[in-house]
Amino acid sequence: MVERHRIKMPTLGWVRLKEKGYIPVNATVRSGTVSQKAGRYFVSVLIDVQESYEQAERGDGIGIDVGIKDFVSASDGQVFGNINKTSAIKRTEKRLKRAQRALSRKYEQRKRGEKSATYRGSNIRKAVLRVQTLHMRLANMRSAYRSYVVSLLVKTKPAFITLEKLNVKGMVKNRHVARAVSNQGFYDFKLKLLSACKKYGIEVREVGMFYPSSKLCSCCGHKKVQLSLKERTFTCENCGISLDRDFNASLNLKQATEYTVLT
Ligand SMILES: [Zn+2]
Repeated sequence: MVERHRIKMPTLGWVRLKEKGYIPVNATVRSGTVSQKAGRYFVSVLIDVQESYEQAERGDGIGIDVGIKDFVSASDGQVFGNINKTSAIKRTEKRLKRAQRALSRKYEQRKRGEKSATYRGSNIRKAVLRVQTLHMRLANMRSAYRSYVVSLLVKTKPAFITLEKLNVKGMVKNRHVARAVSNQGFYDFKLKLLSACKKYGIEVREVGMFYPSSKLCSCCGHKKVQLSLKERTFTCENCGISLDRDFNASLNLKQATEYTVLT
């Protein structure tokens, strides 16, 4: 048994290691020998390292499914939620709404010829600035999140990243969805991803809009005839596998053979 700072040896029990973190912790120890040299004890172990899932995926390509429920689901198991559902964003949005209402109230008062400057901070110029600041803060938070997601995606240095051509027009069916889509900043995300991938020499593959990434079974290739948006779990009628809908889509994107190379 090995931990980062100590090793368990037969008859001796736990022995502290001078060199921490040298021996992989998740390894199975096959055999070990202890030697003494210049008054110091050395332990050498023969180990079997089990490649973890992430390590196996590294160097391989990844597929990413971009969406509204979750921002990005990657085929290596990484999931990045929608930042617009977080309390930090919601709180700032609420403050923005309040500031916008206060501003329009001041405009109305002026139109009616009422005096608005009855208390400190009530003038219009300040209210405009408050609205602008909050708009900017929201934009910054969202943009920083996109950069963060991109940085973690390229961090594993995959051979390629495959994503679907963004069909923003098709996504925008109603006003609320339109707002949700525009707040995600998919286009900006793609630009950021492209520039990061160029920097690190990662191929970016774009799959056409008609590739049925959500309807295919990533395990056996069986295509579902119908899959409603409400179904968050993909269950294959052919092989019986059951996967998260977006994860299944990301695996299909990774496996896609027809694509355009963007980098
Ligand atoms: Zn299947």
